[in-house]
Amino acid sequence: EERNGHEPEFMQAVKEVAETVIPYIKEHEIYNGKNILLRMVEPERVIMFRVPWVDDKGDIQVNRGYRIEMNSAIGPYKGGLRFHPSVNLSILKFLAFEQVFKNSLTTLPMGGGKGGADFDPKGKSDNEIMRFCHAFMAELFRHIGPNTDVPAGDIGVGAREIGFMFGQYKKLKNEFTGVLTGKGLSWGGSLIRPEATGYGAVYFAESMLKTRGESFTGKKVVISGSGNVAQYAAEKAIMLGATVLTLSDSSGYIYDADGIDEEKLAYVMELKNVKRGRISEYILKYPQAKYAAGKTPWGEKCDIALPCATQNELDENDARTLLENGCFCVAEGANMPSTPGAVEVFHDRKILFAPGKASNAGGVATSGLEMSQNALRVGWTREEVDERLRKIMLDIHDSCIKYGKREDGFIDYVKGANIAGFVKVADAMLAQGVV
Ligand code: NDP
Repeated sequence: EERNGHEPEFMQAVKEVAETVIPYIKEHEIYNGKNILLRMVEPERVIMFRVPWVDDKGDIQVNRGYRIEMNSAIGPYKGGLRFHPSVNLSILKFLAFEQVFKNSLTTLPMGGGKGGADFDPKGKSDNEIMRFCHAFMAELFRHIGPNTDVPAGDIGVGAREIGFMFGQYKKLKNEFTGVLTGKGLSWGGSLIRPEATGYGAVYFAESMLKTRGESFTGKKVVISGSGNVAQYAAEKAIMLGATVLTLSDSSGYIYDADGIDEEKLAYVMELKNVKRGRISEYILKYPQAKYAAGKTPWGEKCDIALPCATQNELDENDARTLLENGCFCVAEGANMPSTPGAVEVFHDRKILFAPGKASNAGGVATSGLEMSQNALRVGWTREEVDERLRKIMLDIHDSCIKYGKREDGFIDYVKGANIAGFVKVADAMLAQGVV
């Protein structure tokens, strides 16, 4: 608290983990007196750097770049890069901290990291994006490597940005290695990686629903965001027979009472990924839908909610409204979208609630599979990767039950994910000594 009190998002993420992990440490002799959590909250290394670049007008712009190398006890640092004006040390440390536990949960050998820049990609030309990505990698390249630190995408960093950064890394290092994940298929990418986070979140929710004899079939689903995670969460939910009612961006949300079907979703993907437009444009194409400016979709009646936009986008009041409207399952596609107050409401009412570090781990897990394919110089089929992704999500669900099932049968997925993630990393840290 003394050292990090000025970093609210980081403190929020640490507190949530500490609440469940400290009692576990106290009950288990081997973790006692080792200051293990104190070591885990301090990043192994924080890199901050200047990113100077030239915009289309010829003016020099300066952004701040970051890479947080949080924990390498069980593998090379691994985690996304975020380009968004809100990016700061607190947000990246919270994401890097969560990533350590998430990566541990995937069963794959990956440490935790996160990075990015306070750069706003909105309204920038392709050339500006390229120049920024090249400038960013002109510094980052000396800190990362396929056996050291392997970044991926996150908010504002998709296939286009990964391409520009990979090109620059390859040029500077004169080597073609799997230093980034989320690469294009023809140059080392993995099938299913674009779909993985959204699909994985729905697979996880499917397992949760199963514990109550339920499924996605015929359910009403409300989704926030309209980026990578939201798009593929919607796609998989539709495939499983659910009706997807909403999508959103930071300006507002659209509600389609008839459901966003495959064809409408294809339009959204074109709109967001190619034209880089706003979700409000959906109603120009589908006028029967409504657009609510400046609002989040949590007031709509639904069975299942999948928050897939950003941190702290669903608060206590939203949580109450969702429950009043009949929602009984919330699986986080984004990182920490529910505030602590919202999580408390979900837990009090004993609905199915999965924290992002469990339910959105499919993305990084598939990045891990991309690293394996790169190392082996092979490419697995779509079915093979999807099957592995499914299996990993099931394993994560099992781990949550193992450490999170209460005597009354309620599964506390927050506790389960935190402890399962903690145990593997803590054991590795103890084995490696004080380093
Ligand atoms: P994208 O950049 O593809 O999409 C982000 C979406 O969220 C956009 O619709 C964006 O709207 C919206 N959004 C961003 N910031 C805000 C905000 N402050 N308020 C409201 N809406 C906002 O990112 P991703 O889909 O990749 O990431 C979404 C979430 O999922 C993040 O929390 C990320 O950390 C998490 N995640 C992503 C993984 C991945 O594989 N991509 C893996 C695991 C977690 P707008 O265009 O208006 O900004």
